[in-house]
Amino acid sequence: AQAELNAYACLPSTSSDGHELKLMANIEFAEELDVADHIGIDGIGLYRSEFLFLNNSGMPGEDEQFEQYVEIVRRMKGKPVTMRLLDIGGDKPWRYHDLTTNIEGGANPAMGLRGIRLLLRWPDLLRSQLRAMLRAGEEGPVHILIPMVTNIGEIKEVRRLAEECHRELALRAPISIGTMIEVPASALIADELATVSDFFSVGTNDLTQYTLAADRTDEEVAGLYESGHAAVFHLIRLAAEAARRAGIPISICGELSSNPEWTGTLLNLGMDSLSMSLNKVLRIRQELRQQKYEPVI
Ligand code: PEP
Ligand code: MG
Repeated sequence: AQAELNAYACLPSTSSDGHELKLMANIEFAEELDVADHIGIDGIGLYRSEFLFLNNSGMPGEDEQFEQYVEIVRRMKGKPVTMRLLDIGGDKPWRYHDLTTNIEGGANPAMGLRGIRLLLRWPDLLRSQLRAMLRAGEEGPVHILIPMVTNIGEIKEVRRLAEECHRELALRAPISIGTMIEVPASALIADELATVSDFFSVGTNDLTQYTLAADRTDEEVAGLYESGHAAVFHLIRLAAEAARRAGIPISICGELSSNPEWTGTLLNLGMDSLSMSLNKVLRIRQELRQQKYEPVI
């Protein structure tokens, strides 16, 4: 079957009737891109920056972050790279104890101080990430993605800080800031969030967890944790409609995007891109090239 899939390497990511749905990679390390040239990807849809922090013995400073970020941008040779701000907390525990003393004890970490909530408590950390990402953006298209957004204030604050950093550094490349739709609230107020977002990316892993009240790591409720659940799709559709109305791109970066059962549905919901592990791209491209574009929104 792998030989059959190899035939899809580097083919255009289009439906049978030529509608483009970009297929992007989710990565955690630049080295993962060693195989990307053989597969042919349209960009990085999700760089999970937290692994640089989790695997580091100390807190990486701005320059150390920049080295990592810019390497990814250079390797992508002009293709877009979406970098997510640190999404620590919840299922990704934080181990710099100097910072965690007062957050570790949250009774329910998935609903506690994680993602952008945590970053806004440590503006110095957020600023170091923004500065490093914006600097990397001078060498190729970088889009900055905010995790765990539940209100418009969080996006406005990140944008304000990013503009400040951009000015201080006297950079030229435009700032692009997008919102992760991974909590039902953000899908429900997607029209409002779109007014301050350059793009949306739907994190179906968390969206499923929070919509179905089923912990993504709890084996006991694994049977209830269903990304294809109608309730999850209802929320994806709200986000897609809001993105369409606002004229901003929308992508799916959760596991749902790598399930061929849903490729046609996501295509027809007007997604601009799907982002997944590199080893899933060929199978999804095969599926996409058999699907016909029949938009439902
Ligand atoms: C998601 O929640 O779907 C997502 C892509 O982010 P993560 O799995 O890193 O939480
Ligand atoms: Mg998530």
